[in-house]
Amino acid sequence: MKGQDSSRYWSGYELRRNRMVERLQQMGISRQEVLLAMTSIPRHLFIEEALRSRAYDDMSLPLGLGQTISQPYTVAVMTQLLMADRTAAQCGRTLEIGTGCGYQTAVLQAAGLHDLFSIERLRPLCERAKKNLRAIGLPTFARLICGDGYLGLEQQAPFNSIIVTAAPREVPVALLQQLAIGGRMVLPLDDGNAQFLWVIDKTPSGFRETCVQQALFVPLVNDKMPPM
Ligand code: SAH
Repeated sequence: MKGQDSSRYWSGYELRRNRMVERLQQMGISRQEVLLAMTSIPRHLFIEEALRSRAYDDMSLPLGLGQTISQPYTVAVMTQLLMADRTAAQCGRTLEIGTGCGYQTAVLQAAGLHDLFSIERLRPLCERAKKNLRAIGLPTFARLICGDGYLGLEQQAPFNSIIVTAAPREVPVALLQQLAIGGRMVLPLDDGNAQFLWVIDKTPSGFRETCVQQALFVPLVNDKMPPM
């Protein structure tokens, strides 16, 4: 779209996006890189057209194939936890599990995490994420892999940061192994009754685990099946 119509079209979304970011601030998101990233990434472009009018509401939305795009607050909290007490450069090599449509990936990139890998097990979503990330034209491009995130990405390990955006019943052992000493993993864990968000720091003497808050994610699928 060109000309006046296009500017009206965009400004509507921009206004809603700015309001979304104001709400995130009120909800306790304070890290500047995260707020700026979420101000800059057009979330509506990651969502199918019929649902775009809800793109800046604080809710998860269906992506198809039984999956969801996480609600903006969850994306913001996880990114803020991953970056807490570290500069973007110190977050170093980063692995995301559960690319979905690529929105969280885009936020990580825009927040300055440039050495970024993301794994998605459903090929149609992996392809869609690639298209979405290309469409928003960020200067660096995350490396997207279609595969089983349970296994991590051994050939690119160790990772200074790991973010898991689907909930396993237990922390995948491969991810603990692939985390660098001094590195951090943020993930939801499902105990059978409820899900909680955890931060796991790997220290020279072991793991420090912190339970942060309740969470709601789709399950991290643990099958030994080849990716679809
Ligand atoms: N990060 C996304 C959230 C997508 S929902 C966002 O920005 O909104 C979680 C995603 O994890 C789904 O797309 C699902 O297919 C994927 N997933 C589930 N189990 C997986 C596994 N074992 N390996 C890789 N991806 C997985």
